[in-house]
Amino acid sequence: MNDILDRQALWNISYGLYVVSSVSGQKTNGQIVNSVIQVSADPPSIAVSINKNNLTHEYIQESGVLAVSVLEEETPMNLIGLFGFKSGRDVDKMSQVSCRDGQTGCPVVIDSSLCFFEGKVAGSVDCGTHTIFVAEVVGAQVIKEGTPLTYAYYRNVMKGKASKNAPTYKGDTGLQDKPEDKKMEGGMKKYVCNVCGYIYDPEVGDSEGNIEAGTSFEDLPDSWTCPVCGASKDEFSPEE
Ligand code: FE
Repeated sequence: MNDILDRQALWNISYGLYVVSSVSGQKTNGQIVNSVIQVSADPPSIAVSINKNNLTHEYIQESGVLAVSVLEEETPMNLIGLFGFKSGRDVDKMSQVSCRDGQTGCPVVIDSSLCFFEGKVAGSVDCGTHTIFVAEVVGAQVIKEGTPLTYAYYRNVMKGKASKNAPTYKGDTGLQDKPEDKKMEGGMKKYVCNVCGYIYDPEVGDSEGNIEAGTSFEDLPDSWTCPVCGASKDEFSPEE
């Protein structure tokens, strides 16, 4: 055996996309996670991998409880942007979505969620940049029927990118994406956010930012920011 370590091999692992939330005193937070798996049947238990730098990590360690909301395929990019690219140290994320108090005291995100489970942490494994929390599921509820969002769908169809704190982050080479025909014929150019992958389409504008359809990227005010992750205009590149 030689010692080849081709990280591209790891890109073939399948994942879902979830919001994992937790609580600390009166404070709540949540974040996007792609690594949630059920690890035992009796008692029903799940494992969740969380970056040690994230506020949710701190809260899970403090409270010993967490909730997982399983996102649907129709989840809007701005919800993924809120939970995946913004920090709870800067934004009160839970106040911007519909959520409810779980039986563990943990906030549970309901928006764009098919179901949720709540767990009590039974153990943890230190994995360098991340901690794997193993939690016994103490509550679970189906909210609606639908197709769960997969990481592959997020990457390949929604053209989303990985947050730098994701366990699967790979320097955002974009190599996993195969650019399709995105050029507009004689129209205004689209611009892509280098941080989150959001695409500004002049034909659509940005209703959240009060930008009318037909506004070119160049004509956007300097104060305009990415509606998904909040990056400034200079973080955008022309789409190729
Ligand atoms: Fe962005």
